[in-house]
Amino acid sequence: MSVIRFNALKEALNRTPLHIEETKRRSELFANNVFNEEAMLLYMTKEAYQSVKDAIDFGTKINRKIADQIAVSMKDWALSKGATHYTHWFQPLTGATAEKHDAFFETIDGGRAMERFDGGQLVQQEPDASSFPNGGIRNTFEARGYTAWDPTSPAFIYGTTLCIPTVFVAYTGEALDNKTPLLRALQAVDETATAICKYFDKNVTKVNATLGWEQEYFLIDKALAASRPDLMMTGRTLLGHSSAKGQQLEDHYFGSIPDRVMSFMRDLEQECMLLGVPVKTRHNEVAPNQFELAPIFEEANLAVDHNSLLMDVMEKVSKRHHFKVLFHEKPFEGINGSGKHNNWSLSTNTGVNLLSPGKTPMKNLQFLTFFVNTIKAVHDYEELIRASVASASNDYRLGANEAPPAILSVFIGTQLSAVLDELENVTKGKLSPEEKTDLKLNIVGKIPEILLDNTDRNRTSPFAFTGNKFELRAVGAWSNCAGPMTVLNTIIAKQLKEFKVEVDALIEDKKLKKDEAVFNVLREYIKSSKKIRFEGDGYGDEWEKEAKKRGLSNNKTTPAALKTKISKKAIDLFEEMNVMSKIEVVARHEIELEAYSKRIQIESRVLADVARNHVIPTAIQYQNTLIKNVKGLKEIFDQDFEQFAKEQIHLIKKISNHIAEIYSKIEEMTLQRKEANKFKGQQNAEMYCDKVKPYFEEIRYHADKLELLIDDNLWPLTKYRELLFNI
Ligand code: ADP
Ligand code: MG
Repeated sequence: MSVIRFNALKEALNRTPLHIEETKRRSELFANNVFNEEAMLLYMTKEAYQSVKDAIDFGTKINRKIADQIAVSMKDWALSKGATHYTHWFQPLTGATAEKHDAFFETIDGGRAMERFDGGQLVQQEPDASSFPNGGIRNTFEARGYTAWDPTSPAFIYGTTLCIPTVFVAYTGEALDNKTPLLRALQAVDETATAICKYFDKNVTKVNATLGWEQEYFLIDKALAASRPDLMMTGRTLLGHSSAKGQQLEDHYFGSIPDRVMSFMRDLEQECMLLGVPVKTRHNEVAPNQFELAPIFEEANLAVDHNSLLMDVMEKVSKRHHFKVLFHEKPFEGINGSGKHNNWSLSTNTGVNLLSPGKTPMKNLQFLTFFVNTIKAVHDYEELIRASVASASNDYRLGANEAPPAILSVFIGTQLSAVLDELENVTKGKLSPEEKTDLKLNIVGKIPEILLDNTDRNRTSPFAFTGNKFELRAVGAWSNCAGPMTVLNTIIAKQLKEFKVEVDALIEDKKLKKDEAVFNVLREYIKSSKKIRFEGDGYGDEWEKEAKKRGLSNNKTTPAALKTKISKKAIDLFEEMNVMSKIEVVARHEIELEAYSKRIQIESRVLADVARNHVIPTAIQYQNTLIKNVKGLKEIFDQDFEQFAKEQIHLIKKISNHIAEIYSKIEEMTLQRKEANKFKGQQNAEMYCDKVKPYFEEIRYHADKLELLIDDNLWPLTKYRELLFNI
């Protein structure tokens, strides 16, 4: 066994779980390091507190004088918690989070010093951010961008730093981050959904989108991961033969959590508690070494921040436990990949979940309104939703081998399908008294309050109704939820806006009663969005054929999927809903294409390195042993040697063959890369996708064959069975 592999294994096998004390209840720890309402009430003047509340609830501006007051209270609170620094915490278009720390410390006259923090520093900062992706929005001579405080997501202390969630925008006003468009989309959905709610309840003045993500991830021992250049550089294994045992026995799912992992989880959960991330569920996932963590859902902007924060905290905590955490959507071939289901709903300031059926027919009509409008929105913009989850790494989980097709469809379960089928027959225009009664009592009235049992059965649907929320399952484990959440909330906002126009027209022009009008519009939506509904097996080949017949998109790769983002339809949508300008949309598209090409380029280089520097030399070494053996046999047996050396000779030939193939494929791949680099943007990404990437599997095929042929003692790369079953 190679020294690196041997040492890594030894290190991994000798580890013991860290001891994690839990002396306080989770509820006592919760949000201790968050500048939430409770902390604000304690530290702020009434005036300042009200001003922050109004900013959160109604988006009102905070004036400079008040901002100074807020800053002082925030600083006092932070110092009381032992913080020394502050940072504007933001989410640039790299998909990760960014921070630049400044100390509160300042010198004053007379050689003395003090801690200081004012409104200006709280509200706006100008990080030297010229190295963040901007898609050509900022020229280098005007490389300025600024971060601005987002009061809707509370400040928190991580380590000894006060982190202030902010948006990141160019001086010219364009968004350079993931948060800004999300906030705009959430505002759009608030406005349009609130207007619809008024049909049913005049007391509703605000609607929040809610998000409950479920984060899947792998844990690999740190030393074992470090022995694999591919894992370290790309987050996934580029080669490696499947181990004889994978997930086929299904013995990992919901199984007992290994001690080392449990101690990691408890440590992580305590950190999350302090940060106010309401994590609740933990369990083993399907694949070996795969786990999941889910919080209680929250307002979408906060939930997105919390997911980004969580991923960051997970990296840090995993290091303490000698793990490497993998968020890549497909780190290992042959076993499940990782997603991040986004559970989404809408909730009113009166405490009603708009996707939860109620007790009365009127409540259920409201439910149906939002339910059907969601289906219609997904129907109209399915391709854009697909695009919102596209990335180089998620491509291995969507549309690839071993992966479900990249088709979007909506699953609603048999009960609700039956309700929609009945609603299709609502009379056009005015309803007869009998029909009204029938609709109220027998159709809408009969929607049961609890649908959960009936709706949560189809795990193959990318967009499933699960009783009181929709679950978008196509999101990748590595992505920032802001992308898909921006798209989803924007299309819902647009759809609800249209709905209101249509209903109002029927009420005013056709003199229909409000619920008659609602029924009439819903009926048309149910009919026109039918093709997006699918209750069958979303993973089967049959569905791919059927979806094609229905005219649904099936964009298998990121370069193909991303095109939708700059279509006229998408740009019109974003501009109409004030979520993004054309410049912003185009810039993002450019950044995403570039990120795609770069990822594939890195994978291609790493694969070539590992194959050339690790695999081939080992193969030659083993082949030399065989050659020596054959020569020896010849010495002993002379003419008859062949009958004793048949296997060896066969192996020698085979090894030569694989080596030759690997060499020539690497050469060809490198040429294709050079060719691709002559182009930019779409063409560059397409060439990486269609011309470079296909070599990955070919090279891997031969390398993995060699892994099976070559003496285990010589093989330099930690094997799947070692990576996956040693924690
Ligand atoms: P699954 O069966 O999909 O694994 P879980 O119970 O693990 O389901 O996860 C359900 C997720 O849905 C949780 O993260 C939860 O917070 C979230 N959720 C529940 N209700 C809502 C809602 N109204 N809006 C958004 N998310 C919700
Ligand atoms: Mg789920």
